[in-house]
Amino acid sequence: MNLFDVYSLFDVTPVKALGCKVWDENGQEYLDLYGGHAVVSVGHCHPKYVAAITEQLGRIGFYSNSVRNPMQVELARKIGQMTGLDDYSLFLINSGAEANENAIKLASFHTGRDRMVAFRKSFHGRTSGAVAVTDNPKIVSPFNARQRVTFVDLNDAEAVERELAKGDVAGVIIEGIQGVGGINIPQPGFLQELRRLCTKHGTVLILDEVQSGYGRTGRFFAYESSGILPDIVTMAKGMANGFPIGGVLISPIFKATKGMLGTTFGGNYLAMAAAHAVLDIISEERLLDNVAEVGNYLISNMPQSEQIRTVRGVGLMLGIEFDGPMAEIRKRLLFEKHIFTGVAGTNMIRLLAPLVLSKAEAQQFIVSLKEVLQKA
Ligand SMILES: *Cc1c(COP(=O)(O)O)cnc(C)c1O
Repeated sequence: MNLFDVYSLFDVTPVKALGCKVWDENGQEYLDLYGGHAVVSVGHCHPKYVAAITEQLGRIGFYSNSVRNPMQVELARKIGQMTGLDDYSLFLINSGAEANENAIKLASFHTGRDRMVAFRKSFHGRTSGAVAVTDNPKIVSPFNARQRVTFVDLNDAEAVERELAKGDVAGVIIEGIQGVGGINIPQPGFLQELRRLCTKHGTVLILDEVQSGYGRTGRFFAYESSGILPDIVTMAKGMANGFPIGGVLISPIFKATKGMLGTTFGGNYLAMAAAHAVLDIISEERLLDNVAEVGNYLISNMPQSEQIRTVRGVGLMLGIEFDGPMAEIRKRLLFEKHIFTGVAGTNMIRLLAPLVLSKAEAQQFIVSLKEVLQKA
């Protein structure tokens, strides 16, 4: 049997990693500015993280959600404390798409409505409901496209208001910062306006912080800079440093009923051990401060080059937009400079480094990019 061939692979086989470094089978070292797609948050193989999962596996590895699990309760308490959302509730699942599926269901249960508003260039995941609110024709099947979703431009509050005024919109879903769509930041005031409109029309406001959350921007969630309170926040990628997990933060306006949502694997002991270790490391090592500092350093030291159109982003969620296709530059960064980077579209290199990235490692990238651009 072969693998279903859906990924374009780089010819690299990582076998070992530590912090922001990865080694392949030939012992070649790489600098990881991609974090396995914004997932590796506290660094590869952080000893405290490894110990937490290993010890947990030796105690009890799995039971179902039909018994008490104090680790879940404690995780909710900790996240509440770190985000200020103490009076919200936590629902645990296994991925970002699942988090958004459940958020959309909650919005629909709560309002009794069946239409969603989402934004152009959005990405919310690959499962049926999550992909339906995604604006990327390559990954939305004809089946998903039948769901009732209206797309409007990011920052177009008038278009949102026109849709919400029709009275049938269950929820508006928006990324804290658009990732896949090319590091698009909601302009100042837009989230506040969305908040006002959703409240006015009885529509649920869902902030998808799957990529932009969990410290990536130097705040716990990217939306925090706006000062608003969403009705639902979804999270996943950085939550457990690579152990599959997702979470939905649900405001007190929602009333849970038994059986309304559910999952087999969500909230399992190993995921909980991993998630606790990540939160503890984020606090103990003051990683939010590190993200802000190293992120600013990267932005202000980016090479001046006529090939670069803009650099945008916050913290360690950065996009370097080129005047043309960047595939060759990215390839040379990987094979000549041994640096992993991500992409957004054809013209943007996306940096999603582990939150532990040091200034020296950032500097290594800056020097390497300069050299690659000079030789282009
Ligand atoms: C990655 C991502 C998702 C989907 O998460 P999965 O864990 O791949 O299902 C959803 N929303 C955003 C903003 C993402 O970046």
